[in-house]
Amino acid sequence: MTETPVVVKPAARIHATAEVSPKAVIGAGSSIWHYVQIREGAVLGENCIVGKDVYIDFDVKVGNNVKIQNGAYLYHGLTVEDGVFIGPRAVFTNDVYPRAINLDGSLKGNSDWEVGPIVIRYGASIGCGAIIIPNVTVGRFALVAAGAVVNRSVPDHGLVAGVPARLIGYVCKCGRRMTQQGDSYYCKTCDWTFQPEVKP
Ligand SMILES: [Zn+2]
Repeated sequence: MTETPVVVKPAARIHATAEVSPKAVIGAGSSIWHYVQIREGAVLGENCIVGKDVYIDFDVKVGNNVKIQNGAYLYHGLTVEDGVFIGPRAVFTNDVYPRAINLDGSLKGNSDWEVGPIVIRYGASIGCGAIIIPNVTVGRFALVAAGAVVNRSVPDHGLVAGVPARLIGYVCKCGRRMTQQGDSYYCKTCDWTFQPEVKP
């Protein structure tokens, strides 16, 4: 009989000041820092880092190896795939028609509003203070510049900046901006060429 090696993963580290719902799932090896709130139904993968003051709303899904920097707000309707970087104070919104009240002036309840989903694909990065508007997908390894307001989807490897965000180029998996060569883009650090579907 062969012995199967047992890999024991370290448990998640949750700071005493963090408020993590007992109905949330936190993957092994993840670190939850000071004053973080993680709501019911949220799922965080393995080996994630969740910085101080981060808010993760109910049912938000976060993959493995995700870094969430201080003060980011991840609202209901958001899905974050593996390997994503979320800069400090980035906000993922969700209310397509933001109103506090109904037409008759009564306060809107939990079921009176429409959620617009947001998906952040594998390896993408969201810059410091960026705001993502509902119904947006940010593509694989895309880069959203600091302070951008993203109101439409970003293609794979796309670099977007500004308010509202515009596609201004392409970035490599290594995070560096790529040089345009005809219809394709080249990273000299990685000696890698990328053929985008959308032109900036
Ligand atoms: Zn590169």
